[in-house]
Order: sequence, then C-alpha cells, then structure tokens
Amino acid sequence: MNLYKNDLPSDVKFSESVAVDTEAMGLVIKRDRLCLVQMCSSDGEVHMVQMEKDQGHDAVNLQKLLTDQSIQKIFHFARFDVSLLNYSLGIRVSNIYCTKIASRLARSYTDKHGLKNICRELLGVEISKNEQSSDWGKDELSPEQLNYAQGDVLHLHALRNKLNEILIREGRFELAKKCFDALDLISDLDLYGISPEEFFQH
Ligand code: MN
Repeated sequence: MNLYKNDLPSDVKFSESVAVDTEAMGLVIKRDRLCLVQMCSSDGEVHMVQMEKDQGHDAVNLQKLLTDQSIQKIFHFARFDVSLLNYSLGIRVSNIYCTKIASRLARSYTDKHGLKNICRELLGVEISKNEQSSDWGKDELSPEQLNYAQGDVLHLHALRNKLNEILIREGRFELAKKCFDALDLISDLDLYGISPEEFFQH
C-alpha cells in the first residue's frame, strides 16, 4: 500500500479502470472536508492520497485521473464520493460505475446493498466496518484506519465483474449504465441543496 500527501505522484498510472473511495470529516459535503482518497488498480495495488485542508484544487494528477473519460471509476455509493470529489477538487468525475446501484438493479431479490453484504454474498469475503466513524482529518492515520480505508477499495473490481455478469444475464446492463450517467446530475443537485427524490416527484 502506498500513501501520499495532497496528490498522486505523476508516475502512478491506471489503465481502463480504478476503484475509488473517499473518507471525510463527516457526511455534510460543504462542511466536512475531504481527508483521504483511496484508489485500487485492477491488479490489486492500492494508492492512497491524504488531503490537507484546502489542497484539493491543486491536486493536478488526481484531477487528471478522475476526469479521464477513458478510465472507469468504480465506487460503492458513488453519489457521495462524486459530489465530494467534484466539490473538493473543483472537477467533474467522469465515467462512473457504482456497485451499490449495480447491486440494487442486479440483486432485486434483497434490500441489503451495503458493501459488507455484497462482499459476503458475491465474493465470500468478510470486510470490517469498524473504523468507518473515526477522525480522518488527523495528521497520522492509525494502521487500523489505513487498513480499513484500503479494504473499502480492494474488492470493488471483483464486485463490478460479478454484478455485470448478473446485469447482462438479466438484461439490465443498459439501464445500469443510464443510472451511472445520471450520477453526474444527481451530485450537482445534491451540491445545490436540491433533493432529487423530491424534485422529480409530482
Ligand atoms: Mn470508505
């Protein structure tokens, strides 16, 4: 696992896809700052960027990666991470895949779409959610925090592949793609303080 401050080094490259997750001071995007961006390549190499306060707009290599249309960004619950990254880095994340949306469409037989649940069912892997609520803004992250942070991106490629198999089998793959594309709009509405759930209601 590789840990950097404020940006990815320019020689770190990803091809085709990258799994991405973020940790922040809380869940209110304009109040709670971005603290950590975790990335994992399709062959399982993890890179993490620890962000100091107000450094996002200068993170040019991160910006380049996240806006690169040729590289798919795989998130779990992309809605939050995309809004946070768009706001904190001053970008628009492109080519988004969300394992939570994919799971909702593929696994319509259950209402359990948390990362822990789908890792268990689709991969037979147990992940821990113990460090989820902790102080991600501190200078020195603990080994437990770093281990947790890496666990959130390690399995996203395998999950995407399993979920795509089901989506294709059930004829729901094109609908999933449309939902991923809508995340660009939904994250904008979130940042405007408009609830998409209410906005599109009668
Ligand atoms: Mn996480």
